Amino acid sequence: MIHATKIVNEGGFLFMHREQHCPECNQLLEVAYMEEVVNSNSPEAKYYDFSMTGCRGVFVGNVLFRIRCFYCTSCEKVFRVEQIKEIEKGMTKKH
Ligand SMILES: [Zn+2]
Repeated sequence: MIHATKIVNEGGFLFMHREQHCPECNQLLEVAYMEEVVNSNSPEAKYYDFSMTGCRGVFVGNVLFRIRCFYCTSCEKVFRVEQIKEIEKGMTKKH
């Protein structure tokens, strides 16, 4: 049972300011949402932010996180914002 849903708009800057291309096939990536259910009492909970946006409350129980990510329609792969950042860092190092 899901007690609450939290939408995580990761990587605001990356999403707003330019288009991202697939690191593998160079296809233009689409914005997608991946879903993960995390219980606030589970060991993984420390990696997630259970705070409510706009008020001081926190979510308790099974929370469905809808995490913004990139999707390649050609490879059918999902890239986390963190992955894209890592790949970009790697690219800048080469120059
Ligand atoms: Zn691709």
